Amino acid sequence: MPTTPLPSCCRFDENANEEPSGIGHVRGGMILARLLYVRAWHGDVALRELVRRFSPSDQAMLDNPGVSGLYPLTLLVRLDRAIVRMFGAEVPDVLERLGAFSADLSLGSTLDPSLGKDVPSWLGATRNLNLRFQDFGEADSTFGNLQSHTHEAVVTLKYSPAPPSPYCASGIGYFRQAVRLCGGENVEVAITSCAQTGTGECRFLVRWNTSEEGHGG
Ligand SMILES: [Zn+2]
Repeated sequence: MPTTPLPSCCRFDENANEEPSGIGHVRGGMILARLLYVRAWHGDVALRELVRRFSPSDQAMLDNPGVSGLYPLTLLVRLDRAIVRMFGAEVPDVLERLGAFSADLSLGSTLDPSLGKDVPSWLGATRNLNLRFQDFGEADSTFGNLQSHTHEAVVTLKYSPAPPSPYCASGIGYFRQAVRLCGGENVEVAITSCAQTGTGECRFLVRWNTSEEGHGG
């Protein structure tokens, strides 16, 4: 699959309007993953500098967020935008890296492919997964077999209204890394439709191979 460039709706836009409020909330684990990523790759000083750029009320939420607490989606979007402003020139795919880091944190320690967890069952659980990470949107997945060892799935997230840009961009990294952790090989993820264009849903096309031994069936 040729790597589809990030649709313009998912790219960071410095001139984007201030995000609308009231769309919903995300789990603190997603906020925490961003902060831990910055600390791990850029250090404590950079993390403090990043947090200093936020309003006092945002800083209060960014100070030790609870993993299962609910925080405004708009806080996460402001955080992602601030991270792109600070590190985007140096790390152009920083949003995808944030998503991959999030997958490592939430799945890496608990998900071992040798224990029988496979890609279809993980992707098939996206409906529950969606609710574990955010209190808005509705997720579903469909599957197709391209060849014996090449598989394809489409994860659809119905959103009304659409989440602000660049919320979907980190999803590419998240799904790619999660499918790898479930034993998928040569994983490719592309956004084929984004709610921000008025379609009402974001679609992630996921393709992966399974080894001869049949991880992921
Ligand atoms: Zn989208």
